Amino acid sequence: MADTVKLTAGRAYLAIPGPSVIPDQVLQAMHRASPNIYAGELVEMTHGLIPDLRRVAQTDHNVAIYIANGHGTWEAALSNVISPGDRVLVPGASEFSQGWALMARGLGAEVEQLSHDQSSCWDLEQVAHSLKNDPNRRIKAVLAVHVDTSTSIRNDIVALRALMDELNHPALLMLDCIASLGCDQVEMDAWGVDVLVAASQKGLMVPPGLGFVFFNDKADAVRNAMPRVSGYWDWQPRARPQEYYQFFNGTAPTHHLYGLRAALDLIHAEGMDNVWARHQRLAQAIWTACEVWGQDGGPMRLNVSEPSLRSHAVTSIHIGAPNGTRLRDWLEQNLGLTLGIGLGMAPSDSPEWHGYFRLGHMGHVNGHMVMGMLGGIETGLQALNIPHGSGAVEAAAKILATG
Ligand SMILES: *Cc1c(COP(=O)(O)O)cnc(C)c1O
Repeated sequence: MADTVKLTAGRAYLAIPGPSVIPDQVLQAMHRASPNIYAGELVEMTHGLIPDLRRVAQTDHNVAIYIANGHGTWEAALSNVISPGDRVLVPGASEFSQGWALMARGLGAEVEQLSHDQSSCWDLEQVAHSLKNDPNRRIKAVLAVHVDTSTSIRNDIVALRALMDELNHPALLMLDCIASLGCDQVEMDAWGVDVLVAASQKGLMVPPGLGFVFFNDKADAVRNAMPRVSGYWDWQPRARPQEYYQFFNGTAPTHHLYGLRAALDLIHAEGMDNVWARHQRLAQAIWTACEVWGQDGGPMRLNVSEPSLRSHAVTSIHIGAPNGTRLRDWLEQNLGLTLGIGLGMAPSDSPEWHGYFRLGHMGHVNGHMVMGMLGGIETGLQALNIPHGSGAVEAAAKILATG
């Protein structure tokens, strides 16, 4: 017998904030021969996806599907409403707000990006200031990120919309829900969102490769007034195809569509309300465990101290360098559990970078998976002699035991 026992055989668990865990139903639905792309089952199924996608985003408006990741949907959305020289306001300053801002700059937009620290949400007073300082209404769109996956901040979209309405500003409200759709509560129409972008590989539980741009009539009118829109990114033929190929401007993403069908069936069988409530309860268990580990001199800290600002899909944690990297490496090598790297919290070439990590809890996650992840972290903290408060897993169990 070996002196040290390896414990990694068994099902690996990728607990990073995307790609998320893929349900067996989705994998099985994708495991098939290529379908006919001109007629038959695939064509009918694609039309049926649209109302079910709308229900996930809580909208009665249009949706265009792209063969793209999240970055692709940023560009897709901007390409329909932003021309060179147009102005956009980016209220957030974290990694993904910066990414969308960069994409807008690349398309020739004049970008105003506000700043705030990485542990708090955007500053609505600054947003108000920028909108008020725009008497000629040159700001054409506000590019907002709902859940920033690097900091795990969940921004208040209702308050942002209320501010824009109060100031009577006509800019489009464009929202990145790539991390939040299918996890945190998202209500496109009720919140007054004009354009909403999402991707397949997070709350929607499908491999990376499908991007979604939802848009309302106000946004479509802005699209109609554009001097030009690239043929590939144009959302109109995708949302209102005359011919099947126009859904995707070319060959359909055949197998992804079967996977998406299976994922939407899972989501709607569970019900949106329970999907949101499940993510919330599981997140509460995770926060509780982390808070207990941070007691008694333990170095672990949640990045977001205010619970109402925390995402229910991802949790960003500081544990001091180099313990973030040590813990991630140990868990992957010894338990088959992979946690997310820290993102955007410290320069990637700095020693501090190794003090951060993230937990993904989006999509296909349930109570035993979260308790297994927390038990795994507890094991890693013990194995590495990282100081931590005791009773964290028990405290998380109490949260889930209350039903
Ligand atoms: C993951 C993510 C993105 C980027 O998606 P990719 O598929 O990696 O291009 C953008 N915004 C948010 C909020 C995300 O979570």
